[in-house]
Amino acid sequence: MNSFSYVRTDDVATAVHEMAMDRAAKFIAGGTNLIDLMKENVAHPSRLIDITRLPLDKIEETADGGLRLGALVKNADTAYNEQIEKRYPLLAKAILAGASPQLRNMATNGGNLLQRTRCYYFYDTATPCNKREPGTTCSAIDGFNRMHAILGTSEHCIATHPSDMCIALAALEGVVRVTGKNGERTIPFAEFHRLPGDTPHLDSNLQADEIITAVDLPAKGFSDHYMYVKVRDRRSYAFALVSVAAALEMDGDTIRQARLALGGVAHKPWRNVEAEAMLGGKSATKENFQKVVDFIMRDAKGFGHNTFKIELAKRAIVRALTQAAEMGQQS
Ligand SMILES: Cc1cc2nc3c(=O)[nH]c(=O)nc-3n(C[C@H](O)[C@H](O)[C@H](O)COP(=O)(O)OP(=O)(O)OC[C@H]3O[C@@H](n4cnc5c(N)ncnc54)[C@H](O)[C@@H]3O)c2cc1C
Ligand code: SF4
Repeated sequence: MNSFSYVRTDDVATAVHEMAMDRAAKFIAGGTNLIDLMKENVAHPSRLIDITRLPLDKIEETADGGLRLGALVKNADTAYNEQIEKRYPLLAKAILAGASPQLRNMATNGGNLLQRTRCYYFYDTATPCNKREPGTTCSAIDGFNRMHAILGTSEHCIATHPSDMCIALAALEGVVRVTGKNGERTIPFAEFHRLPGDTPHLDSNLQADEIITAVDLPAKGFSDHYMYVKVRDRRSYAFALVSVAAALEMDGDTIRQARLALGGVAHKPWRNVEAEAMLGGKSATKENFQKVVDFIMRDAKGFGHNTFKIELAKRAIVRALTQAAEMGQQS
């Protein structure tokens, strides 16, 4: 049994101070991922710093016409917020594609960003894993890797990032607000999560003493043309094999601007801004979508059990773009 101490904090400054005092401590929010990791002996914090009472539980307007999502707003409250449903329906749809109603009622926005991979070997402490224990090896590369990544992998780790919410936040270009002992800073969503490289134990660029306080959504929500496609083994309570968040700005049949983010294929939400730019000024045709898909997937690499994901991702992207473009059209 691993013993740990527990402290509850009421303000952000105290939470940051408590973390700076003990680097083996962990913040706990909804606990839906951290408690599982502790029970499986994957995480063994010396101390739990309970942040559930911090005043970060609101969704507010920002000065530039966007919305600020507090880190402690529950995933369910975010998805069913009237402004989110109206202005950022892509985000609502992605959140509701994840987990189960019970989990979404507990899970927080901050915790969702920092949930850890669902790689089976990461959870199985009897097997080597570079993410859990740096310098051992990766059991998935030559093992059972059906859920694993096909883009941005390294010889040290082929794990995927598991969140649905984060795929929509990547497409919407959210900005993560954090506070640490050196004060506040912001991290654009594309720079928040990391590829594995030779440091697969690091999932994000959040510093050890920093806490997420909010995620800001820019004013533009792509509410007229959007789609979140999640392909999974079961219709609910299952992580994505492949997911796609597509957001389009249309002028008739012509695409003015496109955003695309992929889940289930890489160690972070996967975007390719060059591919998105290829769609600007083009008609929303299957042929144009296919060219972009081939460009995005040109470096994709399978590891045996997961090689099917390359074709699956291609088809899911075309489907998401087609459905996003067709929204609101009379049949
Ligand atoms: C059975 C099951 C199925 C699931 N299916 C899906 C799915 O299909 N799609 C999906 O997207 N998710 C899924 N999830 C994951 C779920 O969404 C996450 O567990 C949840 O979002 C984590 O939020 P939390 O508040 O419970 O985090 P916690 O478990 O409390 O914390 C997670 C991590 O984040 C850190 N942390 C939390 N808040 C902050 C903060 N504000 N600042 C800094 N660090 C912080 C903690 O220290 C910890 O390391 C599933 C989970 C389960 C158990
Ligand atoms: S893919 Fe990553 S998390 Fe999974 S066993 Fe390999 S190193 Fe560990």
